[in-house]
Amino acid sequence: MLQKAGLIASFVAHVFHLLGELAWDSVETKYRRMQSISRPPLTNHDEIQNIVIIGASYAGYHAAKVIASNLPPKSPYRVVIIEPHSHFHFTWVLPRFCVVEQEHKAFIPYGPYLKGSPEGRVRWVHERVAQVSRDSVWLEKSQEQIPYAFLVVATGSGATDGLPSRVAADTKAGGMALMQNMQRNIKQTQHLVVVGGGAAGVELAADAKQRYPEKHVTLVHSRKAVMHRFGPELQAAALRGLEDLGVETVLQERTASSSIVNCTGQKASSSIMAELAPEAISPTGTIRVKPTLQIQDAELSNVYVCGDVADVGINNPNARSATRQAMVVGLNVVRAATGGSPTKTYKPFWGEGVIKLTLGLDTSISHVGDGDTELWWHSKERNLALMSAGAWKRLGAKPFEDDYESEKQVE
Ligand SMILES: Cc1cc2nc3c(=O)[nH]c(=O)nc-3n(C[C@H](O)[C@H](O)[C@H](O)COP(=O)(O)OP(=O)(O)OC[C@H]3O[C@@H](n4cnc5c(N)ncnc54)[C@H](O)[C@@H]3O)c2cc1C
Repeated sequence: MLQKAGLIASFVAHVFHLLGELAWDSVETKYRRMQSISRPPLTNHDEIQNIVIIGASYAGYHAAKVIASNLPPKSPYRVVIIEPHSHFHFTWVLPRFCVVEQEHKAFIPYGPYLKGSPEGRVRWVHERVAQVSRDSVWLEKSQEQIPYAFLVVATGSGATDGLPSRVAADTKAGGMALMQNMQRNIKQTQHLVVVGGGAAGVELAADAKQRYPEKHVTLVHSRKAVMHRFGPELQAAALRGLEDLGVETVLQERTASSSIVNCTGQKASSSIMAELAPEAISPTGTIRVKPTLQIQDAELSNVYVCGDVADVGINNPNARSATRQAMVVGLNVVRAATGGSPTKTYKPFWGEGVIKLTLGLDTSISHVGDGDTELWWHSKERNLALMSAGAWKRLGAKPFEDDYESEKQVE
């Protein structure tokens, strides 16, 4: 009991610490902006330089916002965001919408989150980076070369089989079609086999069983417990939830059968950096970084890494830590681009790993732990779309207004 109280106290202290840090950062960036006002305006001869951001999900999109809104008005830098997706993919609800037909809500329009940035400050390029050199990136399709003064690598992680962890399509229409296909497959099968007992597998198996109670749903996991990366209390609660719904759980087994849904592991997407900085790539594929989130390579001090692809020592990479890393990277880039030193550092905090695990369509467990002590509680979920509307609002978009059907193709 005392340990749990200590955990709560430490969590609250961390929140106050973060608020203090935010207030300080805001004062500092305002000061830098004011200093820049006395500088002469840019002339036609001043060369615009690029701050290139690769990937616009939780990490890259937030880094773009921090940089675009904090660079001084007369800054010679502009932000170039390179991201193949036409929309932000809200990963948290992907397993749910592989069962429930509300898939359009998982794709949030890009753009409004950066509203308010000065005209011309941001350039969007809906493409994939194929290659990175010491001073430029090359695009896959157009083969355009884009030089950079600063580079932010926020390429995250990917799942080999795509859904339910990732969507292997760049347009919203394409992504929705893949999800509709998965919904149809689940609806049509009599025996659903889900492989992988991490969060995506547990959530999908539970949703499918509650939605179609007449079907036989089996969850196969190679480890001793489902949710094995989390504490024993969450593991036990998740297993109980699955059993209560009637999901058959097979542990310490692998299946070679043609399983319908594969929810096994995700891998960091670092291949574009392998040639430039081979020593910085860890055996798991994440990119080694300094506490300032500059890449672990003395020759590349203008290259930063944040989010799932960064090797920051987190067991369960998550969107909250990706966003906080993006804040650190964003502020360090602004400091460096305004003549300062990138001295802001990132230290993982266990509280960032708080998770809400759904166990069927109307129940969830919220959980947080520091490795020794766990706090968790059940909640009733009244909304089938879970936190989708909140995510749209946080990214500046009106739920669920989007004229994506007019897209012919991603530019
Ligand atoms: C099913 C599921 C549920 C989850 N639920 C939660 C949750 O409840 N809470 C939580 O905190 N976290 C959750 N997570 C984890 C969270 O989604 C990740 O931590 C987060 O997405 C990491 O963000 P990121 O920006 O680092 O990378 P990603 O989200 O992986 O995004 C990387 C981006 O980079 C782009 N990219 C990759 N390569 C290139 C290239 N060569 N050129 C250009 N662009 C490129 C991709 O298109 C992508 O948009 C969940 C994850 C999954 C899969």
